[in-house]
Amino acid sequence: MKEKAKPAPGVDYPRTFQEFERWFVDEASCRNYLLRLRWPEGFRCPRCGCDTSPWVTARGYLHCRKCEGEISVTAGTVFERTRSPMKTWLLAMWFVASQKQGVNALGLQRILGLGSYRTAWTWLHKLRRAMVRSGREPLRGRIEVDETYVGGTETGGKRGRGADKKEIVVIAVEIKEPKGFGRVRMQRIPDVSGASLVPFVSNVVEPGSEVHTDGWGGYNELAKRGYKHNRTVLSDSGDPAHVAMPGVHRISSLLKRWLLGTHHGAVSGKHLDYYLDEYTFRFNRRTSRSRGMLFYRLVEQAVATAPVPYKVLIGGDHNM
Ligand SMILES: [Zn+2]
Repeated sequence: MKEKAKPAPGVDYPRTFQEFERWFVDEASCRNYLLRLRWPEGFRCPRCGCDTSPWVTARGYLHCRKCEGEISVTAGTVFERTRSPMKTWLLAMWFVASQKQGVNALGLQRILGLGSYRTAWTWLHKLRRAMVRSGREPLRGRIEVDETYVGGTETGGKRGRGADKKEIVVIAVEIKEPKGFGRVRMQRIPDVSGASLVPFVSNVVEPGSEVHTDGWGGYNELAKRGYKHNRTVLSDSGDPAHVAMPGVHRISSLLKRWLLGTHHGAVSGKHLDYYLDEYTFRFNRRTSRSRGMLFYRLVEQAVATAPVPYKVLIGGDHNM
């Protein structure tokens, strides 16, 4: 996907909460903002495909001059059928983006004065669906890949079978020279077999990249998939895992701290992937100088993401 011109602070997104309050004074200003982000090249009628600029009706609908259809700017987005004012949604996105560690459902419910915890929980999950951009660029260069265990009790050795209530998460991170990290990808996997590990790497890492793993047999097929496979056999190196895989080890501890801190560790298996998506969204944009930029990306992706019915949301069935 081609990146558009870089959004400008104070023009494309508010720089501060004061500016946010000046921009979004009523429902119309909120819907105009969504309209602009949903159709950055100008409105295109989803019914007839024409690009003549629509009327805006008194109730805030877009009225197509050609097919006479009434279109809601929120239809076909994560906001579809919401009964809440768009100002409240924009506020939710502002808080999600502007808090460095994010916000949990109880926190959001309190800040926005939402009627129920369930609403806040649902909103956050809808927004998480918008945090993964389709067609995003694969990782490239030097990549570290390893698994970590999330939740449950912190006992047992590496790759212990039947670990208690723990979820296995595989993490890939770009390693920069001379130091530092690039982007990450992570996913919950059912086991540490090659059938789980190799497709993950194929999905997120560009072929030809140098992939660094430990000596685990589950990674054996990587060379055949077109990667320069570099392995450190831990028993040979004499180093503990965190020395051999400093990148993944660091990301793993940041992730666990975030799950414990912001979400009090209360993340159940089937929903974990969406929290991983949120963590990835935050981590990969950690160098954004402005939190407003994060807000912009979130709104932009939210209007480009199809609605998710509540039943699907609570089912938690994640597909890559
Ligand atoms: Zn039309």
